[in-house]
Amino acid sequence: MLNVDLHCHSKASDGLLSADEVARRAAANGVELLALTDHDNLDGLTTARAVADEAGMQFVNGVEISIEWGGLQVHILGLNFDAADVRLNAGLESIRSGRVDRAQRMADELEKIGIPGCFDGAMRHAENPHLISRAHFARYLVEIGVCKDVRSVFESYIVPGRPGYVDHRWATLEESVNWIVGAGGIAAVAHPGRYKFSKVEMRGLLEDFKGLGGQAVEIVSGSHSAENVTVFSRYAREYGFMASCGSDFHGPGESYIDLGKLAPLPAGLTPVWEAF
Ligand code: AMP
Ligand code: MN
Ligand code: MN
Ligand code: MN
Repeated sequence: MLNVDLHCHSKASDGLLSADEVARRAAANGVELLALTDHDNLDGLTTARAVADEAGMQFVNGVEISIEWGGLQVHILGLNFDAADVRLNAGLESIRSGRVDRAQRMADELEKIGIPGCFDGAMRHAENPHLISRAHFARYLVEIGVCKDVRSVFESYIVPGRPGYVDHRWATLEESVNWIVGAGGIAAVAHPGRYKFSKVEMRGLLEDFKGLGGQAVEIVSGSHSAENVTVFSRYAREYGFMASCGSDFHGPGESYIDLGKLAPLPAGLTPVWEAF
């Protein structure tokens, strides 16, 4: 079976390695088909593709778009699209433009509970300031000893209901699918097992997504348990979605699963790369 990894991050968003380091590591780990899927931007794609070409590894363009659905932040993957598409680029720019303001509001909330300096501190961890992310806040709070690891920072400070979390207006599901499909790509719901939705809400998300032209769901993921894989395989068969797989690798030491180290897709699913 082909070694496929269609979800990972570089320093163009909140990964710890540069795009060329990510592509080199993927090739060294045996990946045969890679997509780099940075959050809300396409900056790493040209470099990653050049390294992939050199290494004889197949590469498709990718992006992970931040949207809001049902009151929660949801991630939609775009795969194998035209990176020069004007509407997609303008849409991603519109999401990015809110991030700096949100970071300032997060820093204000953290200062209120006695942790000053988080805006500048998080920015120091962000290679790309337009992509300032909660992950950069988490790394800063670990750096200054507030928590022992990024996971604990999320749990205690920067998820809904915690003091450093602020609401934010992301793109809509409809916008994200339209941008991806309009650019000739395939849209996939990223790591559906991570969203704290009821069964009814999850079905609502999948039905809305399908109705808008979404075609795939991420099944095997660094963020998924074995049970998640079973549950979402069933949904994929029921709704006729193709299946994607990706490590969601952010960096050594920070991610559960390394590039290209994924379990195979369960039998009976249509791999999304058959449509590339
Ligand atoms: P943002 O796009 O700024 O809201 O940040 C979301 C990013 O934070 C995700 O893409 C993950 O990289 C990271 N993240 C979200 N939740 C967690 C968590 N519970 N533990 C570790 N990292 C997380
Ligand atoms: Mn991330
Ligand atoms: Mn994600
Ligand atoms: Mn991701």
